[in-house]
Amino acid sequence: MRTKYRQKSHHSDQNKWFHCVRCSRPIVPQAIGTEHRNHCNWCLWSKHLDDVPGDRAADCGGAMEPIAVWVRRGSDWAIIHQCRKCGELHSNRIAGDDNEIALVSLAVRAISQPPFPLEHLQLMGEPTDPGWLHPNNSNSPNP
Ligand SMILES: [Zn+2]
Ligand SMILES: [Zn+2]
Repeated sequence: MRTKYRQKSHHSDQNKWFHCVRCSRPIVPQAIGTEHRNHCNWCLWSKHLDDVPGDRAADCGGAMEPIAVWVRRGSDWAIIHQCRKCGELHSNRIAGDDNEIALVSLAVRAISQPPFPLEHLQLMGEPTDPGWLHPNNSNSPNP
């Protein structure tokens, strides 16, 4: 039985898949919801290959860490990636098969690590506590 070596060639570099820099899973650029997916749908890491999404013009090739989720118009989510090598920031629209747990944990990362105690928010929302909220109360000192 003869093996057919000729395979359907890729039309351009844009369609080339590559291995995730983080978890080694294959990344296929064409995905549900985007033509230029350049991040891993499992761990969301990317590779610095593009200057403009899909152009493959960047020489850097550094690993790009997902650092935040950005809500675009129409409630579209995009991931902000920062290159570990050159520091450049990119935003990339999420794809339909991106790992939802990874996306949500990225989105709540800031809330889970607040730069101030979250109890402060509770106090600010508490209407009964500070005396200055009750100017008629003669017992409370002036602010
Ligand atoms: Zn990955
Ligand atoms: Zn870079």
